[in-house]
Amino acid sequence: MQPDNQRRTFLKGLTFTIGSTVFGVPLLSFCSSETEGNTTQESQTGAANNQNRKLGIALVGLGGYSTHQLAPALQETKNCYLAGIVTGTPSKAETWKAKYNIPDKNIYNYQNFDQIADNKDIDIIYVVLPNAMHAEYTIRAAKAKKHVICEKPMATSVEDAQRMLEACRQNNVQLAIGYRLHFDPFHQRVMELGQKQLFGKVQSIRAHNSFVMGGPGSWRVDRERSGGGPLMDMGIYCVQAACYTLGKTPVAVTAKFGEVTKPDIFKEVEQSISWRMEFENGVVAECNSSYADQEDFLEGKADKGWWRLGPSFGYEGKEGETSQGKMNYPNIFEQARQMDGQAASFRNNTPSIVPGEMGLRDVKILMAIYDSARSGGKRISIS
Ligand code: NAD
Repeated sequence: MQPDNQRRTFLKGLTFTIGSTVFGVPLLSFCSSETEGNTTQESQTGAANNQNRKLGIALVGLGGYSTHQLAPALQETKNCYLAGIVTGTPSKAETWKAKYNIPDKNIYNYQNFDQIADNKDIDIIYVVLPNAMHAEYTIRAAKAKKHVICEKPMATSVEDAQRMLEACRQNNVQLAIGYRLHFDPFHQRVMELGQKQLFGKVQSIRAHNSFVMGGPGSWRVDRERSGGGPLMDMGIYCVQAACYTLGKTPVAVTAKFGEVTKPDIFKEVEQSISWRMEFENGVVAECNSSYADQEDFLEGKADKGWWRLGPSFGYEGKEGETSQGKMNYPNIFEQARQMDGQAASFRNNTPSIVPGEMGLRDVKILMAIYDSARSGGKRISIS
């Protein structure tokens, strides 16, 4: 195995375009040994820092993801810190205030949220609300002249995503999406293997991401708040993975809904969905996502080799293998690295590797997948 320090170099990423937008994807250096990995590098944007000020983040929505992932991650970040909170629940405000030492002046509710414009401690607003609320709070944050990180999926319609981008442009603030896997070494390695064609031309991709929904009652199965079922929540990772494996956007999709075996829960959104994404040169990604199954893997097959991550999309415990051997990367605190990378790009005014434009691209793909499934598997072109 190569020593760690021989693997730390970041190669400049390949770029790919969607309309007029160019995304740069950071790639890890290639290691040719049998055993893969062991990188400890900073994100590309983090490495480019030339200022030291930690940016203040306010989390909007103190649910499961903020409580168990983002707030703990913000105790480890170097470029940003937990400066404020926005919550509709006074008891949560008290708990968080005590636990994270948040001053009263940095605690907001949904009614007085817009006053955050006057708060110099807050540089970034991180929207961690049910999907259908992302647009309203991103736009209000942009009007308050704060940079925004918005959770995935960016929005529940293409129109909302476009309005969000426009609001950020008009107010001269940056918008990044909470895509954490772009900052993870296993997934960065997949980007490199696929985009640099290190095992030859990619032939096909498979990605499944599912979990078992316990019961009814969650906003995730309420169409008005979620915008859709597992595709919006978990399947989006498969869409992303196929795109970043290839560094490309699909040209067409076909999809079909799965059987509903739990009609008490899945009255408004799909229980499961499978879809195929076609890329140029005939490369195909076969994907599946369900709220009634337990699956989590990403595979790629190329002319001269293959790779497999599994578990692939969860927060921790990732494992990977290629036709050359086991991947040996550390499991990192993805959310800490993600927010550090995003804060650095806001601070340095450099493009995010997960910009709002990427979120819009993905919403367009998600909507095309739903269009196809609703029309009985018709092939839908993506413009
Ligand atoms: P959650 O249900 O645990 O939390 C939602 C929060 O929104 C709660 O604090 C709730 O009080 C608040 N809220 C305000 N208005 C609400 C309303 N009308 N209905 C329901 N809740 C309301 O959800 P979560 O798992 O924290 O997810 C929040 C967002 O984060 C979603 O967009 C989700 O897709 C995203 N998320 C991303 C990841 C990731 O890995 N990037 C992981 C989990 C969740």
